[in-house]
Amino acid sequence: MSTGEPAHKLNYDTRWEYSPAPESADHARIDEQYGLFIGGKFVAPKSGEYFNTINPATEKVLSRVAAANADDVNNAVKVARGAYENVWSKMRPAERGKYIFRIARIIQERSREFAIIESLDGGKPIREARDIDVPLAAAHFFYHAGWADKLDYAFPCRSPSPVGVVGQIIPWNFPLLMAAWKIAPALACGNTVVLKPAETTSLTALKLAEVIRDADLPKGVVNIVTGDGSTGSALVQHNDINKIAFTGSTDVGRLIQHSLAGTGKKYTLELGGKAANIIFADAPIDQAVEGIINAIFFNQGHVCCAGSRLLVQESVADQVVTKLKERMQTLIIGDPLDKNTDIGAINSAAQLERINSYLELGQNEGAEMFQCTTKTPDFGFWCPPTLFTQVAQSHSIVREEVFGPVLAIQTFRTVDEAISKANNTQYGLSGGVWTDKGSKIFNVGKNIRAGVIWANTFNKFDPTSPFGGYKESGVGREGGLHGLSAYLNLD
Ligand code: NAD
Repeated sequence: MSTGEPAHKLNYDTRWEYSPAPESADHARIDEQYGLFIGGKFVAPKSGEYFNTINPATEKVLSRVAAANADDVNNAVKVARGAYENVWSKMRPAERGKYIFRIARIIQERSREFAIIESLDGGKPIREARDIDVPLAAAHFFYHAGWADKLDYAFPCRSPSPVGVVGQIIPWNFPLLMAAWKIAPALACGNTVVLKPAETTSLTALKLAEVIRDADLPKGVVNIVTGDGSTGSALVQHNDINKIAFTGSTDVGRLIQHSLAGTGKKYTLELGGKAANIIFADAPIDQAVEGIINAIFFNQGHVCCAGSRLLVQESVADQVVTKLKERMQTLIIGDPLDKNTDIGAINSAAQLERINSYLELGQNEGAEMFQCTTKTPDFGFWCPPTLFTQVAQSHSIVREEVFGPVLAIQTFRTVDEAISKANNTQYGLSGGVWTDKGSKIFNVGKNIRAGVIWANTFNKFDPTSPFGGYKESGVGREGGLHGLSAYLNLD
């Protein structure tokens, strides 16, 4: 396959200059130091330890966050057990629902502050935090609040009851959204929670703790313990946890599954992905190109369901690649708080190093790399949007999850070849298909082994819709009725 026009011949005249439009961060309150949120208040960690959380766009310290040890986790689980036995599981479901509605409304009221802090702590563009993360987080609480008193109707002929105390562990790519995604259904089903956010992005979970306190949720129903993998591991190992809900890498998911085997604890695992985005020759090409940009460069490619593999029908491959390169050159990289910014900062130095090692590996394995030439800021962690052509199925960039703004492009001739290449992966989280034929959408959608398939769009989320993976992308579903059932015993 030809790789499209060489960079110097591409039409970059479409790049516009914008005046800076930074969102003011003045009214976003970040404390100098945060304790653990246990029993309805912030408490000092028994460990006595704290760690810095930084702004990945500037490398400046934003705050210090408590590092919970096994004693702290034990304390949080004890408090959650007490709240479960004495208050939450006994409360009328309609009353539980009112608290969850209240949390949703307060998130909406403080949405600007949440968006700013999400952008500062995680490096994502304010536009995404403002338009996707925060509204969706509120939507998860609204949706699940509505279910709290209707569980008996949701599962006809079954008797739903809560599972008890739930341990929840989340990653750094959608910190507030993942917390909402986990806490809302657990509460609606009558469980109490100990949640551990990721170590690089704890701040919005701690702000959510403030919301939970301000909503007067009974003390101990939600507890938030910050720390690294060792804190997460202490939560997984705790004897008095009834269920673990984990979102993160497949490697850690595997460890967790291993240590839960034989314990009788319930679990759901939402893990990595390597989604194929398939473009047929009959697709509306300009729309598809915009869809690819959204599928892989959205949130710097820090998306489990990112369309990190592009399968494009051979007859339109040159056209698609050329248009993609042109569009990549117009993307605005830089200050995540600027409302014009398309591509923000990579979340951490460690993640940037990982991405860069894949860029090197991709080239060493013989693929051809094209990188957007926009200048990146001098400080912070940045990776310009990148695509690889001339890739083979055996290449690491095709098989492994990079979790960065890196796209591997392959071609195909027939529908069967597209399906077979899309399924040639250990993962099965998501996929996309672009065509003007409804029958092709049904055929491809039915035959790809992935939890969600988008047609002529990508990265659309809704709390009513179950989400989860096949194969090494996970076990169980979150969202919708399927997600509710994972937080219930159904007799
Ligand atoms: P990670 O697995 O390194 O960490 C995830 C969380 O697990 C963090 O809170 C971390 O502190 C904790 N952790 C680490 N080691 C642990 C251990 N031994 N026991 C218990 N907890 C431990 O993942 P990450 O780098 O934070 O996130 C990126 C990964 O998450 C990617 O693979 C991505 O695909 C995946 N992800 C999946 C989904 C989904 O819905 N399927 C959503 C978002 C992210």
